[in-house]
Amino acid sequence: MRLFTVGPTEMYESTLVEKGKQVPYFRTEEFSKINIENAGMLKQCLGAEESTEIIYLTASGSGAMEAVVMNCFQQTEKVLVIVGGTFGKRFVQICEIHGVPYEAICLESDEELTFEKLQSFAERGFTAMLVNLHETQTGQLYDLEMLGTFCRENNMLFVVDAISTFLCDSYAMEKNGVDVTIISSQKGLCLSPGISMVALSERMKKKIQENKVCSLYFDFKDYIENMKRGQTPFTPAVGIHYELHDMLLRIVEQGVEEHIKEIENRANYFREKIQMLPVTIPDFPLSNAMTPVWFQEEIAEEMADFLRNEKGMIVNPTGGEVGKRSFRVSHMGNLKLCDYDRLVAAMGEWFAMRNNQT
Ligand SMILES: *Cc1c(COP(=O)(O)O)cnc(C)c1O
Repeated sequence: MRLFTVGPTEMYESTLVEKGKQVPYFRTEEFSKINIENAGMLKQCLGAEESTEIIYLTASGSGAMEAVVMNCFQQTEKVLVIVGGTFGKRFVQICEIHGVPYEAICLESDEELTFEKLQSFAERGFTAMLVNLHETQTGQLYDLEMLGTFCRENNMLFVVDAISTFLCDSYAMEKNGVDVTIISSQKGLCLSPGISMVALSERMKKKIQENKVCSLYFDFKDYIENMKRGQTPFTPAVGIHYELHDMLLRIVEQGVEEHIKEIENRANYFREKIQMLPVTIPDFPLSNAMTPVWFQEEIAEEMADFLRNEKGMIVNPTGGEVGKRSFRVSHMGNLKLCDYDRLVAAMGEWFAMRNNQT
């Protein structure tokens, strides 16, 4: 079995070893040290300032997205949300539930977010921008520099859900003036699902201290206070913190840019190879994390079934109506170029079989 999915991903051998261990008791110096070291390595991988705060939440990425909106914004503000797919819509839903006024920049499923489109929302009194930098439903990777510049020029706080771009595409938190970066364990980090990390800039940390949050479990003030001793307010998913430590040591040793290059190579290799098949990929800028594969007919589900049942290869279905004509192939995880040879061969086999039938 091979996972070509965006999360969980095909895990590395050493992660599986960590996963198999007895989970230790956690209110210890030893566990505090793991958390502090992890925070340091995460900041390095994010290109974040030393003063950036990292907090750990026991929640999937959506939990972290919601917690960020609850802690960082109030009902007196007006935020701008980029909505290019289902993850953008999730930010909108969260703003509605928590009564945070918002406006959305809505994109069609094949539409690129251009400078002109963004510029039409300039000087409209927004206090912040919320964006899923890689909109994982469509595969579009927005231009971080363009968005960062827009926020700076319009005096807006800048919140980035980087869940499916972190460790797959270059990312520079400080350079682009990002105030909040959200990441999660099961995507580019290739770990078990269950924890999310939030990186907070100095000015966002200050703002959070002044905001009142109606939540016991998700009050960031408590997390920030506890991180002074390398701990979390409540029992974390201890085992995943150890998986994280193992993975970060590996990536930092390899070099983040080297690691990203490896993912980029896989993406380019696959995109080149599928050109011999009757499929297309979108024109807009793509993340290295995955490739959306578009079919001319409504065959995506049937082919995905064939790949799973006959070949043991799991591709990622696409949500919604577009899912009939498209699935997604991940380049994250413990995958090699030969895995893509096998996948493309199997896809070719399916097309050949189908041609013989008609
Ligand atoms: C995966 C993902 C999330 C989190 O989804 P969960 O199912 O809550 O883990 C959030 N944003 C983006 C862009 C994602 O790709």
